[in-house]
Amino acid sequence: MIFFDTHCHLNFKPFKDDWRDVINRAFENDTWMINVGVDEETSQRAVEIAENYQDGVYASAGFHPIYVKDKNEKVEDIINENFYSKIVKNLKVVAIGEIGLDYYHTKDESLKELQKKVLCRQIEIAKKFSKPIILHSREATDNLMEIVKEFLPLKAVIHCFSESWETAKKYLDMGLLISFTGIVTFTNKYDETIKNIPLDKTMIETDAPYLASVPHRGERNEPLFVKYVAQKIADIKKISLEEVAEQTTKNAREFFRI
Ligand SMILES: [Zn+2]
Repeated sequence: MIFFDTHCHLNFKPFKDDWRDVINRAFENDTWMINVGVDEETSQRAVEIAENYQDGVYASAGFHPIYVKDKNEKVEDIINENFYSKIVKNLKVVAIGEIGLDYYHTKDESLKELQKKVLCRQIEIAKKFSKPIILHSREATDNLMEIVKEFLPLKAVIHCFSESWETAKKYLDMGLLISFTGIVTFTNKYDETIKNIPLDKTMIETDAPYLASVPHRGERNEPLFVKYVAQKIADIKKISLEEVAEQTTKNAREFFRI
């Protein structure tokens, strides 16, 4: 039984001194992971970490919408085509992400427009290089769905899903996958959504260092804790932990071609 943490950030500062220990702890518990970039520096760092391991540690490269901060910047200046075309060819890079829309951090209409352009540019890169996409969405569901529709068919996952079953259903109908974090361990708000989403469309993640699951809530999160997300899904669906681990890992390996 292998757990697959499809979205974590050991490439971030909180792990700079002990990322190797964190990975060892994960491996001792049969947990694999993808470290996800949010800009050029962290994408590069995710690759550097992954290159230390034959299997079990992978990378994703992308530019997160919260770093779109200057409305006078051009898309070409934010998304360096050369950088992304080069990094995407690295064998450890299994996806483009995390990319998306985040209207929680900005109410400025022109910044929202720029976020959309930055997202579209990166979806084009992902399609050009046949890479799956890790999508971030916060208070921007309608706009994100419009963009996803324009690009269908699209191989994408909605990371850290925290919306209604109705919204999940729309994404599933468009062929997307849904990924859950430790949030599901400290609220029952998403139980119905989890119950309704077929297990073969579900992936699990920690988003470490953020969003640690119960019983580690408030602590620094790490890939090892993805098992708590799997356990919660097993409890809600009334199936075994083994079944959740096996199916979500199978989904991740197919989706990311690992
Ligand atoms: Zn993240």
